[in-house]
Amino acid sequence: MHGQNADLEAVNVRLPLEGEGGLFRVSVRDGKWTAIERQENAVSEDGYVPIAALGLDELRAAGRLDLEGRVLLPGFVDVHMHLDKAYSLPRVRNRSGTLLEAIENYRAVAPTFAKETIRDRIVKAALNAASYGSATLRSHLDVPVHLGRDLAMRTIEAALEARERVSGAVDIQYFPMFFYDPSAERELTEFAAEALRMGVDGVGGAPHLCPEADAGIAWAFRLATKFARPIDLHADESDDPAVKTIDVYCDQIMRNGYAGRATAGHLCSLSAMAQDEADRLIAKMAICGVGAVTLPAVNLYLQGRSDRGNVRRGVTRVRELAEAGVPVAAASDNIQDPFHPFGRGDMLQVGLMTAYAAHLAREEDIVAVLRMLTHLPARIAGLRDYGVAPGNPAGFVVLDAVSAEELFQELPATRWVYNKSRWTFASRLSRQGTEPDAGVEAAVRCANADSAV
Ligand SMILES: [Zn+2]
Repeated sequence: MHGQNADLEAVNVRLPLEGEGGLFRVSVRDGKWTAIERQENAVSEDGYVPIAALGLDELRAAGRLDLEGRVLLPGFVDVHMHLDKAYSLPRVRNRSGTLLEAIENYRAVAPTFAKETIRDRIVKAALNAASYGSATLRSHLDVPVHLGRDLAMRTIEAALEARERVSGAVDIQYFPMFFYDPSAERELTEFAAEALRMGVDGVGGAPHLCPEADAGIAWAFRLATKFARPIDLHADESDDPAVKTIDVYCDQIMRNGYAGRATAGHLCSLSAMAQDEADRLIAKMAICGVGAVTLPAVNLYLQGRSDRGNVRRGVTRVRELAEAGVPVAAASDNIQDPFHPFGRGDMLQVGLMTAYAAHLAREEDIVAVLRMLTHLPARIAGLRDYGVAPGNPAGFVVLDAVSAEELFQELPATRWVYNKSRWTFASRLSRQGTEPDAGVEAAVRCANADSAV
């Protein structure tokens, strides 16, 4: 008898990150995986309810499920977001589509946002992301201390309240973006120390936008080491190949022993550099142990705005970084705000953008992209016990697809999300109209499943 007394058992589960194409029987007890067993063949057993027709209430009532070959992934880790700015687009536009106009326009309107407005935007964005299958989010926060301490503190308070409200569905890490200005270092240090004591998780920033980038990076490390917190900096979100704060960032990571606890987002200018300089920096990144995050949607939208003809698209050298051994994650960045008018916190959409922008579409590349949405950002976020394995917390999403490729071909709307010891979301596509004959549909699915990734 399998998984006796389990809270949840499922058969005919496809685990593209754990076993190439095979089917599995899995069980969960007390919110943790207890068994992951490979099946010889698809099985049909009494008492296992096909998941296809189930909504949230039925899921919660059914202890035994037949996934009928559908894909199960560990909960996505969206490791670079801006939840506090999400859905602000109707209030803040961006006519030129440049990063600088987005920053200016947001700064102009930010003082008018009430704490409750910011909090509600974070709650909405976090719950939407969770409904698409994300289990852990890392959000940067806008804290322009140089424009006023109260304004910056409003965002910290809103963020902490929002995190509490969504804690039953999703975990959030916060990395405020401290804007280093040597003329106001004391105020900034006091504010940052208070934010860290209040419960934000790490030190963020965007040194390439600050007047003294090298000093700003050194300041970030003084703060991070004092509080023993990780660092996650926006690095070189620019088309200009001369912009390379990553060079000094790597030096500081080595000097402070921050391998595995430092992350660099964007790295756009790296894609514009001459090959030998890019090679030098990529090798340095691999040696110093920094994690990289690519944000393809936002880079495609904001970068290359002054180019004509062969427009630079800003997406970093994903394949080269990965081949050098740098852990590379892909993430959402901004959602429906002046930095990015689209996006919805759906990591499948981010994965598809990454597959296009980084030329990652062979069968083995598809699995690599899935790892960029799951295991690699989990490592960058410092999550322990992540993944579908006995003893680990069971946070996962089941998607209406029978192969890794089909995830990106269909971007299935139909998904079921389990996290924190319970089913948290069920979304089902309801389509009316002329469908393919049921027999034809089943035959096509079976034929594809036989050779699935
Ligand atoms: Zn960002």
